[in-house]
Amino acid sequence: MKTTTILSSGLLILCCSFFGAAQKRFSDKQVQKFKEEAVQTLEAQRKQAQVMVDKVFSFAELGFQEKETSNYLTGILRENGFDIETSISGIPTAWFARWSNGEGPVIALGSDLDGIPKASQYPGVAYHRPIVEGAPGHGEGHNAGLPLNITAALVVKKIMEREGIGGTLLLWPGIAEELLASKAWYVRDGHFDKVDMCIFTHVDSDLSVSWGQHAGTGLISVEYTFEGEAAHSAGAPWRGRSALDAAELMNIGWNYKREHLHPLKRSHSVFTEAGDQPNVVPSKASIWYFLRDVTHTGIMEMYAEANAMAEGAALMTGTRVSRRVLGTAWPRHFNKVIARTMYENIRQVGLPAWSEADQTLARAVQKEVGSQRVQGLATELSDLGLPVERPISGGSDDIGDISWKVPTVTLRFPSNIPGLPGHHWANAISMATPIAHKGVVAGAKVGAMTLLDFLLRPELLEGAWDYFEKEQTREIQYRPMISDADPPPIYLNHERQERFRPTLEKFYYDETRYDTYLEQLGVPYPMLRP
Ligand SMILES: [Zn+2]
Repeated sequence: MKTTTILSSGLLILCCSFFGAAQKRFSDKQVQKFKEEAVQTLEAQRKQAQVMVDKVFSFAELGFQEKETSNYLTGILRENGFDIETSISGIPTAWFARWSNGEGPVIALGSDLDGIPKASQYPGVAYHRPIVEGAPGHGEGHNAGLPLNITAALVVKKIMEREGIGGTLLLWPGIAEELLASKAWYVRDGHFDKVDMCIFTHVDSDLSVSWGQHAGTGLISVEYTFEGEAAHSAGAPWRGRSALDAAELMNIGWNYKREHLHPLKRSHSVFTEAGDQPNVVPSKASIWYFLRDVTHTGIMEMYAEANAMAEGAALMTGTRVSRRVLGTAWPRHFNKVIARTMYENIRQVGLPAWSEADQTLARAVQKEVGSQRVQGLATELSDLGLPVERPISGGSDDIGDISWKVPTVTLRFPSNIPGLPGHHWANAISMATPIAHKGVVAGAKVGAMTLLDFLLRPELLEGAWDYFEKEQTREIQYRPMISDADPPPIYLNHERQERFRPTLEKFYYDETRYDTYLEQLGVPYPMLRP
């Protein structure tokens, strides 16, 4: 353990060598002036953000299939002078876009961009109305984060060029976040080794940021595949050994186990292969689990228990079992200094001014899905988020892995409606409407201001690393849950996406003909239940 600590401090010195030695100094007043300029420019560039948000919404691509989305966004970045590296960590849709203005902090800006299966939905329509029945859609709102980051980065880049501000902007996508299947690979493969800090952005219904241990879990995503022996199910069933029986027995075992899991642990599964037809004894079956807990140790314990149960099920049925890790996420821990600095900017920007139409849509959707409170959109900022007093179970995001590699925060921006189920068609409704557009512009302002703070005030970056080294990683050191050999499961979602792609193509947003995607789809805003 001692060696690890020394090694990680050594690396720390290497990767965070920049504390502003050669940076031009600007007074606080000048920094504030640049921030005001960024806010005004972003206000004037609403159109650019709206087009990107609507366009990515219309692509509706699932994890690892973000082809159109990545082509489109890297095209914009390339045109604006960024160098694009593609196929990061062997993931065809992953890329890193880099622009450098000489010596200075390397700041990474990331966000997710994949959709949710079966979440196709007309934006602005307050009830379930798929654009393409059964197709994927942005039922979480991952269409908005990268447009936010790009808008913010381009504005800051102009100021950096004009003022001779040194530093590097590194934009990257959270590919297949819904599968928790890219960020641990980026970290493993060294893509964050020379990064000084990371601002991650995620859709929300509030404009907020937090530091310390975050609510929610980390997880390991693992698929168990059983192999048995086929036989005629009626003619010679005694010759068969059913892989499906094994998968079912494993699941029954795990469901008995559930009674004895600590309430903070959470797990869920789907069968991904369950045989072909009843008169053939299934020779192959697979079951895929997400195993979640609030600590890395707890996750690894659950994983060992599930492995043992899989072997037990194989023994019971005379089958063989193999497993494959499909994704991982560390529990998240965010940086105190970045969060506090960002929160000051959040207070200056404030929540967007919602129109009556925005509020009418929000209330109608909340009513439609049975939300506990039908209160419309957020109108009051929440306080700076503090570390959870006691761990709270819930969802995961593989930004956790990056948050243990470099000082990181998640900027949550208000492009969605509060009180919705999540991973659901209802969460797509606002995502190509003025609600999403306004939320993205507000978030981009905070992002740009925070970038300027960390580019121009080296003591902040120093403080961020101080927190990272002396508090965050004092007792817990990052250990990847994937091995050096685990490949990212880039085959996932391929068939599903290709099945719908030709139909979805007819609905891609054409910004040369229509002002907004709502206009293209002929949706009056908002469209309520008749
Ligand atoms: Zn997400």
